[in-house]
Amino acid sequence: MTIPPGLRAHAPLRPTVDCVVVGGGPVGLLTALFLGQSGLRVSVVERQPRRYPLPRACTIDHEALRILQAAGVMTDHADLFEPSQGERGGYEFRNGKGELLQAIDWNRAAESGWANTNGFHQPDLEAVLEELALATPGVTLHRGWSFHGLTQDDTGVTAHVAPTEEPGALSHLRSRWLIGADGARSAVRTHLGIDVGDSGFEADWLVVDYQPLAEEKWSAFVTQYCDPEQPATAVNSGPGRRRFEFMRRTDTTVEELGRDSTAWRLMAPWGVTEKTARLERHAVYTFRGQWARSWRSGNVFLAGDAAHLMPPFLGQGLCAGLRDARALTWRLGMVHRGTAAPEVLDTYGPERMGHVRTIIDEAVAAGRVICELDADRAAARDTEMKRRSSAPEAITREPPHPRLGHPSLTAGHGEATGRLAPQARVEEAGREGLFDDIAGGGWQLISGAGDPAALLGEDDAAWFRAIGGVTADVSGEGSVHELDGTYARWFARHACTAFLARPDFYVFAAGAHEDIPAFVARLRRALRPRTDDG
Ligand SMILES: Cc1cc2nc3c(=O)[nH]c(=O)nc-3n(C[C@H](O)[C@H](O)[C@H](O)COP(=O)(O)OP(=O)(O)OC[C@H]3O[C@@H](n4cnc5c(N)ncnc54)[C@H](O)[C@@H]3O)c2cc1C
Repeated sequence: MTIPPGLRAHAPLRPTVDCVVVGGGPVGLLTALFLGQSGLRVSVVERQPRRYPLPRACTIDHEALRILQAAGVMTDHADLFEPSQGERGGYEFRNGKGELLQAIDWNRAAESGWANTNGFHQPDLEAVLEELALATPGVTLHRGWSFHGLTQDDTGVTAHVAPTEEPGALSHLRSRWLIGADGARSAVRTHLGIDVGDSGFEADWLVVDYQPLAEEKWSAFVTQYCDPEQPATAVNSGPGRRRFEFMRRTDTTVEELGRDSTAWRLMAPWGVTEKTARLERHAVYTFRGQWARSWRSGNVFLAGDAAHLMPPFLGQGLCAGLRDARALTWRLGMVHRGTAAPEVLDTYGPERMGHVRTIIDEAVAAGRVICELDADRAAARDTEMKRRSSAPEAITREPPHPRLGHPSLTAGHGEATGRLAPQARVEEAGREGLFDDIAGGGWQLISGAGDPAALLGEDDAAWFRAIGGVTADVSGEGSVHELDGTYARWFARHACTAFLARPDFYVFAAGAHEDIPAFVARLRRALRPRTDDG
């Protein structure tokens, strides 16, 4: 009998599982889904009895969509995401007079195979993640339960949880691992006593979500109005929706900023009024740049907003959380199956922290540009931005693509190592689609100069297959044919002909086709599975 999702979201607690996930937001749900797909028994503990109905994130990047593709979201739900495209795509900075300071072209497929930037409605994504998580064997969701504390010993973690409405009625959940995906005010992080670093950036912004009643014409997908009188952002927030964000000026209180009348007054200069739009919600947020100084304590890990916070000017907070989910779960899955040693978990925090710190710094830097309230400094900024935007590369600047932090689970120091790997559209045996769907999305050994499998000894080839690895010759001679030139361009850009990518799409090693046996030997050593002598 199929159990309706509503009931499974309130399943009875199981005393022992492989992993407890605290927090059923997007990051916790995706984490549980990936772990369930890897064969782990997972319990998600979520303090709210119902899903959070309001959006926070409204744009999502190509890499995050590839992660959602791996989770199975894109198979039936790609229409949740509206790609930035056409003459009204892209990212613009304008000054107080509305003059263009800088335009960045987002209207292209990026290397992950999906549009560079996409608008979406966060509650819709969370509904799909919850549905998929609940349909995954081994995953249960316990809504209306709150985390209160934990104890650890050599073999695992005991979490102390209680019904949110009845905090005194403690129950205990035993697991090998626990993941704190419990948001910005993480109780797990606080319980562990983990210190939080701070960028020093802080600004209150009013966020207004509305549905236009008639089609609106916008010059860009996202526009930052760098007006010292009233810094503002206008953004596409998914099919049929728009969002404005307005910074709080020093002469306005948080209470005033949060009023309906303020939202309508601030939107009026753009012609958005009660006659042209339906207000979905408005709320004041304090934007900050913060990070947990450690992402692990024993068998407990942090992920998502529990581990990092950033101002939303680059639309990267949730994207970073989805990266955490992927980076942590492939490791836990392999350790659980015995195909990797527990030491691979040591690189999760350093890799992800180094990566996200770069993005937090960029988001804060963008915030300092946008939030400038001094008229003279704003004028100087405008002049400088106009000067820089005349450089040819200014319009094609990519959003940040940092390298993994150090130490990382990678081999060698090549330019591409530790960076995002590409995904092309391919054809194989008459089937067309994105590589991960057609050939497989785990470990990927891809060469533009011949068949990788032909270079591997029998033992290495069998081992690579056993960890879920796929090989492909995309030179045109093999069975997989690339249709859009993504791999060829990537190989040319990085002066290499082959790469070995991890299940989170970061390059483990890149180099010449002939180096492929060395890539695999290095990977075997890096994973050091207890069952492997290699
Ligand atoms: C205004 C705004 C705009 C944004 N725009 C973007 C954007 O465009 N693109 C982007 O990528 N990101 C954006 N972000 C960031 C993004 O929304 C967050 O990074 C993301 O929602 C975090 O997801 P999470 O699952 O880590 O945390 P949350 O969504 O906060 O989920 C945490 C969950 O843990 C539960 N919980 C908390 N404590 C406990 C406890 N003790 N026991 C049990 N459960 C508990 C909570 O109820 C909650 O459901 C934006 C954020 C804001 C505020």
